[in-house]
Amino acid sequence: MKPVIALVGRPNVGKSTLFNRLTKTRNALVADHEGLTRDRIYGNARHDEAEFILIDTGGLTEQGDDMSDLMRKQAELAIVEADLILFLVDGKAGVVPADELIAKQLRNVGKPVLLVINKTESEQRELAAADFYRLGLGEPEVISATQGRGISNLMNTLMRDLPAIRIVETEEEEAEDDTSGDIRLAVVGRPNVGKSTLVNRLLGEDRVVAFDEPGTTRDSIYIPFEKEGTNYILIDTAGVRRRSKVSEALEKFSIVKTLQAIEAANVVLLVLDAHEGIVDQDLHLAGLIIESGRAVVIAVNKWDGLEKQEREWVATNIERRLPFLSFAKTHFISALHGSGVGLLLKSVKTAYGSALAKIPTPQLTRVLEEAVADHQPPLVNGRRIKYRYAHLGGKNPPRIIIHGNQTEATPNSYRRYLENYFRTALKLQGTPVMIEFKTSE
Ligand code: GDP
Ligand code: GDP
Repeated sequence: MKPVIALVGRPNVGKSTLFNRLTKTRNALVADHEGLTRDRIYGNARHDEAEFILIDTGGLTEQGDDMSDLMRKQAELAIVEADLILFLVDGKAGVVPADELIAKQLRNVGKPVLLVINKTESEQRELAAADFYRLGLGEPEVISATQGRGISNLMNTLMRDLPAIRIVETEEEEAEDDTSGDIRLAVVGRPNVGKSTLVNRLLGEDRVVAFDEPGTTRDSIYIPFEKEGTNYILIDTAGVRRRSKVSEALEKFSIVKTLQAIEAANVVLLVLDAHEGIVDQDLHLAGLIIESGRAVVIAVNKWDGLEKQEREWVATNIERRLPFLSFAKTHFISALHGSGVGLLLKSVKTAYGSALAKIPTPQLTRVLEEAVADHQPPLVNGRRIKYRYAHLGGKNPPRIIIHGNQTEATPNSYRRYLENYFRTALKLQGTPVMIEFKTSE
């Protein structure tokens, strides 16, 4: 599981500026989807050799009344679940009472805390730091979030204090080269949609291959099972089989755990509640999933006991509010009665196959040529964009890299046309497809 770092500090110290610098959204995936409400609170940070989930807790706690209770609890939970806390202060302002208050709280959470002094572009490192030693949090990092100064040092310190964030290129990457590995499946959804019921249903019908480790919470959420000759690893965010009673209430629903599960998965099974339709919390989760680029299957649960009219309303509602997940197969199921559950795993398997498909360059290039022959790219400044070839730059999601002349000028509409063309021609189902352009000399 990816380590979690929580960003803490009073308002205006530069948390969101640092957050944006450290997290790189997969813009190519997100840019197109305007209806998507994505707050910048949770993000995946990647920096050279390190990778982690970053949470801006300030963004959560300060939004006041219109923020649901659940979200505020999630902020507190983020600090509890974080592996490390980045405490950001303002070097221009110096130590203010609010900093001391936060420092005092942080000393009691029993987590490693790294003090980071921001807005130091005009200060000497030592000068900026001097005042802040009295917070009693040790040697501070000195940065300028707007200018990017000190970020590399900060990352080095993070890698020292939290070695788990270091990216290890393992055999797993190799194994992802073909689709013969275990399918890592995350079951996610907001509270009470029926995740636990569904997980029990999925596991109960089958032999649970190996699950009897007392282990830590982190280990015990991986549950291997087998179905019709295919091996799955279920990543349980609902805490179905978790043993620890103490943490149960707290962990019943956790966005941090959900994010970690999404990141660790090949395919995400998004569970919705047909009785309630799509609510904001679903959209929030859908946004996190889209940003991850993972393959997706949608399970609309509690389909039982609905009138025909209600069913039609639910189906339309999903199409209307989750258009950016239109690539995902939707199943209407009843986890309680078991109806529709069997077909879910078929779609999961298909999505996995598409997400990790090995597509050779000649095949991609041929499809590109067909697409262009069917429908020419537009003229840009009187010259036509020229595509030469395409190759696969990555998997889960498939990243199709198109090379040629002034390819970056490709308008969004034509990019979408190409994306759909590739999707159809290559029979890619259940996975987002990323198109990237490169201009070669
Ligand atoms: P947050 O409330 O903690 O999330 O703070 P923001 O990221 O919104 O930043 C508050 C203000 O400080 C904005 O006007 C930023 O442009 C500014 N700011 C952030 N980082 C720096 C920095 O490194 N140097 C300077 N001079 N200003 C910064
Ligand atoms: P979780 O919080 O997402 O893990 O949700 P649970 O699995 O605990 O289910 C929440 C509630 O919904 C429980 O009372 C379940 O019995 C009920 N439930 C789950 N699946 C179904 C279903 O398919 N139909 C109906 N009618 N109720 C269901």
